[in-house]
Amino acid sequence: MAEETETKMTFADLGLEEKVLKALDDMGFEEPSPIQEQTIPMLLNGKDVIGQAQTGTGKTAAFGAPIVQRWDPKVRGIQALVLAPTRELAIQVAEELSKIGKYARIKTIAIYGGQSIDRQIRSLRFGVDVVIGTPGRIMDHMRRGTLNLSEVRMVVLDEADEMLDMGFVDDIEFILKETPATRQTLLFSATMPDEIKRLGSRYMKEPHHIAASPQQLTVPQIEQFFYEVRPAFKTDALCRVLDMENVERAICFCRTKKGVDELVEALQTRGYLAEGIHGDMNQAQRNRVMSKFKEGNVELLVATDVAARGLDIQDVTHVFNFDVPQDPESYVHRIGRTGRAGRAGTAVTFTSAREFGQLRLIERVTKTRIQRKPLPSVMDVAEKQREQLKERLVKVMDDGQLAFYKEVADELLDEYDAEILLAAALKMLSGEAKAPTAPSVDFGDTGAEAGMVRLFLNVGRQQLIQPADVVRSIASQTGIPGNVIGLINIYDRFTFVEVPKDVAAQVVQAMQDATIKGRSVNIEPAKRR
Ligand code: ADP
Ligand code: MG
Repeated sequence: MAEETETKMTFADLGLEEKVLKALDDMGFEEPSPIQEQTIPMLLNGKDVIGQAQTGTGKTAAFGAPIVQRWDPKVRGIQALVLAPTRELAIQVAEELSKIGKYARIKTIAIYGGQSIDRQIRSLRFGVDVVIGTPGRIMDHMRRGTLNLSEVRMVVLDEADEMLDMGFVDDIEFILKETPATRQTLLFSATMPDEIKRLGSRYMKEPHHIAASPQQLTVPQIEQFFYEVRPAFKTDALCRVLDMENVERAICFCRTKKGVDELVEALQTRGYLAEGIHGDMNQAQRNRVMSKFKEGNVELLVATDVAARGLDIQDVTHVFNFDVPQDPESYVHRIGRTGRAGRAGTAVTFTSAREFGQLRLIERVTKTRIQRKPLPSVMDVAEKQREQLKERLVKVMDDGQLAFYKEVADELLDEYDAEILLAAALKMLSGEAKAPTAPSVDFGDTGAEAGMVRLFLNVGRQQLIQPADVVRSIASQTGIPGNVIGLINIYDRFTFVEVPKDVAAQVVQAMQDATIKGRSVNIEPAKRR
């Protein structure tokens, strides 16, 4: 098959040097995304580039790696300026750039409105190499004379179409005019309205246009759907789906090696038979994992695209995309792993809000529809597990050959109540089964009323928390109905909330990455004094 013989570019092939390569490797990147492959060599050559690509296609590293490599340690002052539409994006880009610049020891700073300008002025005085900012706040600093752009050699307009939509065009032009005319200018945008083309022709030098526009692709006829989930909630979401669907053998794709390692660890901790495979593993390690998978001792193989390429894996019931792949071709390769040899398969993609555009692009290019599905709630999963337990018991009954056990049953029935006996037998039976999503933990006496567990939340009146905030957060995070949540007591710095015993562990687990009123919270069983 084509996918097995295809040769892919490496980051080194693009002309990147050791200090950048090492940083990208630490970040878990195995190979360049299409937009990176096309832009990095040009940027390293000092060309102006207009890059068109959807969100989630790796544009930050596409300009970040060249910024780091072209940075001159002998020059003091800001050498690169990145303009981004929002504070969140500015922070994200700054974080990614400081990771890429780790070995070059590049200092980055994000500058945006809403943060104390005095603090920003102080950090700027301290000396920084790369500034990432929103246009408005960058202009403020320029007017105050607190931002010296005389050493700037690269200017990046990131998400240019969004900046224009937000009315930043005058600010952008002002900033471009005030930076040295010798600068290299890069513009990234998901769409190319005329206004962007005009900016390009006015302020850029013979810009190269790069569009990561893939050719038409055909996808295999398999069921495809997606769940929209927050990034921090993806692991839980995957577990719920694994519990709900009849997953026998599945591959789950992650974007990075790090992502693979983290997910495998999380899944193993929760009792799933998962193993990872990626480029940092030697051949012996990979062979070991693959034979376990083929023998059925592993239900879920977690892999990077690179590691999965060329693997001959048959009879996969599900392909999971833990991250939306960076290009439609990878999507098609990935999901082609399931439904082989005429068997039905399912492809499931976990999509964060930011990855949405990329998913839509995949739909367009592949001319398929990827159906949205609501995530199963904790209650759905519990219900499903009940059903499965009943089914297993009934199946054993149907299989017969129970003579020996019938005798034992008669003896027991002489002495005990039938309902309680059956319940105990079921408990024994489910003990042998795979550990449930969140094991039902005995929290001991937490001081709650009977059948409930009292949980401690580290926010309270001082954080302006109201009962409704607590209910909403727990309900949306776990899928349990708000009306089963019990007593809520809000104190100055903390809150007690009671939840039913059988969901307490799930609530604690699901709330690990929750926020209430924008604050991340800590939740744990209360201790009886
Ligand atoms: P964009 O700016 O195009 O929306 P980002 O640069 O934010 O995309 O990248 C999206 C995600 O993909 C980030 O988490 C980033 O770290 C990751 N990423 C970028 N390039 C690669 C790569 N070559 N391999 C693996 N992950 C990557
Ligand atoms: Mg971006």
